[in-house]
Amino acid sequence: MMYTQYLPTLHGGLESKKTTRQPKVVVLAIGSAALLSSVGLSTPSTAQAESACSIPNTIRLSDLSTISTSCSYKVSAIELPDGRQFPIPDPGYSVTLHTLVVEGEDSANDVSIDRSRSGEVTVLLGDAIAQAEIESRMNSSSTRASCTDSYNLLGFSWAGSYGWKYNSENQPSSSALDQLQAGGSRWGGFMSVCNTTLRSNATSKYQGTTSDTPLVNADLTCGFSIGGQSIVGFGPLPTGTLAATCTWRLLSLPVKSDQKYNSNYSWNVSLGCSGNVYDLRGVATHEMGHSFGLGHVDQSSGLVMKPASGPCETGQRDLGYGDALGIAALYP
Ligand SMILES: [Zn+2]
Repeated sequence: MMYTQYLPTLHGGLESKKTTRQPKVVVLAIGSAALLSSVGLSTPSTAQAESACSIPNTIRLSDLSTISTSCSYKVSAIELPDGRQFPIPDPGYSVTLHTLVVEGEDSANDVSIDRSRSGEVTVLLGDAIAQAEIESRMNSSSTRASCTDSYNLLGFSWAGSYGWKYNSENQPSSSALDQLQAGGSRWGGFMSVCNTTLRSNATSKYQGTTSDTPLVNADLTCGFSIGGQSIVGFGPLPTGTLAATCTWRLLSLPVKSDQKYNSNYSWNVSLGCSGNVYDLRGVATHEMGHSFGLGHVDQSSGLVMKPASGPCETGQRDLGYGDALGIAALYP
């Protein structure tokens, strides 16, 4: 599991990075126990109190202890060690970012920022690639689905369908939407894999087009949101990143999950695949897995939810055993 190695609560100190095979995890919190009992969810009526807060635009991880749980940070961002700036969620909200990277590329760290109802902020950085094996299913269009049984739950599921709208701006082809929908529908119904039949009630519901854009920024950060329509679309992301998904939660319930696919890469939208292109349906299956509530597993697993993909990896269209076990557990 990626995010289970919690360090004790720190106040302003950034744990030193270790280049081991363990996932890099950083946990930081603001505020103190003494404050928690007197601070509730922020409401519009706290505007006067907020005006008394001295709030910088950017708060470094090492400075988290200097800010108060009672202040709203709507216009402020947490600066991560790599320079990325994430908006600070409102109390009770959390946001997570997961990526799928090109095989062999360095991973941008996956990020989870959680703000408790009482205002404490917890930042988790998990380097999925650091724990990944080198082996993979590159060019595995003819191989069978993986029978590895691992999966990783992010801690949420949708009460009903995961409903999303599509922004066709920057799309590689008019067939792209079909591939995205196919990636979503892969996770529901009866799944026969590795001589076992499993069933899940996960449903991905396409709800039409929109001119709104996914709140997944080009610098691999998530925008500020308190929920709303989930949006899927194409746009620029850093080189090496094929796609990224941001999911916002309120008190652990998902309220929005946006997916962005990197418009700087060439995408395959056909049944077959050849050349130095990436299979949209396979990558969409992976991103939909994140939106449904699944996290990454080891690269060596060969499962859909491994963190990196190679060109024409059409094998990622099909759930492996662990993928099916995970979605069946989330949506029984
Ligand atoms: Zn991913």
